[in-house]
Amino acid sequence: MKKIPVSEIFYSVQGEGKYCGTPSVFVRVGGCNLKCPGFGDKGCDSYYAVDKNYQKEWVLMNIEEIKKEILKYLDKKPHLVITGGEPTLFHKELYPLVEWFENQITIETNATIDIDFEKYPKYKDVVFAMSVKLSNSGEEYNKRVKKEVIKSYAKNAKKSFFKFVIDRDLKNEIEEITKNIDIPIYCMPLGATKEELEKNAPFVFEFCLKNGYCYSDRIHIRLFGKKKGV
Ligand code: SF4
Repeated sequence: MKKIPVSEIFYSVQGEGKYCGTPSVFVRVGGCNLKCPGFGDKGCDSYYAVDKNYQKEWVLMNIEEIKKEILKYLDKKPHLVITGGEPTLFHKELYPLVEWFENQITIETNATIDIDFEKYPKYKDVVFAMSVKLSNSGEEYNKRVKKEVIKSYAKNAKKSFFKFVIDRDLKNEIEEITKNIDIPIYCMPLGATKEELEKNAPFVFEFCLKNGYCYSDRIHIRLFGKKKGV
């Protein structure tokens, strides 16, 4: 089985979305199929797991090696969060990990890569935190929105939810993407630093109230800014 490029593995508190505040082990894979140039000076806030210049820091690991790291924290009964980069690039290689881990698993994804849920049925128990990219990501629509993939995740993995990063009124875009898909919608303020987050948070708070969306803060950015491994 192909090894997986791993940017970091760490134990922390989930900082955003449906399970915000839950102790979790994070496995961050390296590599993404998007670049999101609209998100700050380096593109996305996990640029070190996307930008090829940081590739030498990624460690190629097999599933047994990843499990060994996760085992260090199992006494805390954590959730497992597989994030990136874009973890679904490696969904075939990651499947034995999904079969093995007994507590809740969340996969943080841009929801652009299809998964065969019949061939890999354990993914039906996974929560897909679908952070579908909006126009503020700077990506082209056809690259960032794959409606068939989004529908398939929502239909097969029923505990999934949407998670949008916003800094302005993007209601029309959110409605267009989520139309006829009955899973929760979370919105979070755009910002890679505490200052940017605080600037955008009041608007996002009001935006959620007005439209009936769930508000999610981003605890790790509020507390640690751009620091890795937290
Ligand atoms: S999809 Fe996510 S990980 Fe990939 S470049 Fe965009 S923000 Fe970064």
